[in-house]
Amino acid sequence: MNYVTLNNGVKMPMQGFGVFQVPDADTCERAVADALSVGYRLIDTASVYGNEQAVGTAISKSGIAREEMFITTKAWISEMGYDNTLRAFDASLSRLGLEYLDLYLIHMPFGDYYGAWRAMEELYAAGRVRAIGVCNFEPDRLMDLYHNAKVVPAVNQVEVHPYTQQPEAMKLMQSLGIQTEAWGPLAEGRDGLFTDAVLSSIGRKYGKSAAQVVLRWNLQRGVVAIPKSIHKERMTENFNVMDFTLSEEDMTAIAAMNTDKRLILDLHSPAEVERLYGIECKN
Ligand code: NAP
Repeated sequence: MNYVTLNNGVKMPMQGFGVFQVPDADTCERAVADALSVGYRLIDTASVYGNEQAVGTAISKSGIAREEMFITTKAWISEMGYDNTLRAFDASLSRLGLEYLDLYLIHMPFGDYYGAWRAMEELYAAGRVRAIGVCNFEPDRLMDLYHNAKVVPAVNQVEVHPYTQQPEAMKLMQSLGIQTEAWGPLAEGRDGLFTDAVLSSIGRKYGKSAAQVVLRWNLQRGVVAIPKSIHKERMTENFNVMDFTLSEEDMTAIAAMNTDKRLILDLHSPAEVERLYGIECKN
């Protein structure tokens, strides 16, 4: 397992496992158990996914030492604001059955996220979470938070895959010492990623799939990725990316695939923001 060192010295595994859209508790528990048995140690959930309890059950049954794992969850829009976030943190921790979190993230840059950040800074100072960060913060919002935070976010989890690479945002994060974490690293399979001609032809040189090429590309650029699958053979495939190295030519060919548009989530669209505000956290 490769690790990155966050801006506060905490080590974060670079190959993580996400559980978005796995609401069924049995499926989620089994998927996390499989992921841990494959070798993943970073599990990425969120209160709004409705599966923290199932994640927690799989963690506690795994027998793996707590300090070997890196558990992330997130506060939803309805959990923003100082008091709300303190409450939401306790509730998430209790559903996960954990004593502390490794990473707590603001899920969306909406609502009173400054109040939420103050709460998270306190939780961090109290040692209840090892690192705090954000998701989906565009460069302007990230810069603003940077100037108003006592604790600089350790991570910004954003949509990153070959079709949406966000090079300028990544440059800014790097300059501020904020780790990029790629959500939707496989573009949720959209736009034919798994059969993409460029990725497949690169993969053929190394006996690897398009998915493995994408995950290796992230590793080589220092980007943490959290692919999701409920199939153990795919989890294994996605994890097995340490035995080949993409050439500079391969990296350039993948860089050229960027389209500069958001394929999955366009936070500049008022309709999309409206839709997100309508999503209830059902825990
Ligand atoms: P993703 O990981 O890019 O893609 C997941 C999809 O790809 C699933 O349909 C999965 O199907 C399929 N898949 C996975 N590996 C495959 C393989 N090797 N071959 C063929 N198909 C494969 O999408 P994501 O789940 O949206 O993103 C990953 C994680 O990022 C999430 O689970 C979540 O933890 C996090 N996330 C965060 C945010 C945020 O706002 N912070 C937003 C979205 C996601 P099966 O499951 O059927 O195998």
